[in-house]
Amino acid sequence: MKIALIAHDKKKDEIIALAKNYKDVLAKYELYATGTTGTLIMGETALPIKRMKSGPLGGDQQIGAMLANGELDLIIFLRDPLTAQPHEPDVSALLRLCDVQKIPLATNISSATIMLESLKSGKFFEARN
Ligand code: PGA
Repeated sequence: MKIALIAHDKKKDEIIALAKNYKDVLAKYELYATGTTGTLIMGETALPIKRMKSGPLGGDQQIGAMLANGELDLIIFLRDPLTAQPHEPDVSALLRLCDVQKIPLATNISSATIMLESLKSGKFFEARN
C-alpha cells in the first residue's frame, strides 16, 4: 500500500497535524510526498517518506507518473482553493489521473480524515473495488 501526501503552502500546517494524528496508521505504509511537504512531515513525525521534487518544480508530475504506472493506492492532496498556483496544470493533471486510475483522492482535511479513519479501521480495504 503506497500513499502520497501533498499540501499547498497554506495547508502545510493541516497536513502536519494530520500526519501527527495518524502517525501510527501512516507508519504501516509506504509514504511518498512532494519535496517541501515531505521534508516538513518527516521533521515533525520522523515518518520515513520518499520525497519527489517540490510541487512547482515537477513533484506533482512525478506523483502523476507513479499514478499512471499504477504505483499509488491513496492520495491526500490538501489544496489551497483560494490562492492561484503557478503549477495549476500539473495539479489538474494529477487529479485527473486519480480519476482515470480510480485512486482514492482526498483534497481537504475532512475527506482526508475520513480516509485515514477508514484505513485505521480496515474498512478501506473492504470498500475498495
Ligand atoms: P511542495 O509541493 O510539497 O514541494 O510544497 C506541493 C505542491 O504545491 O504541489
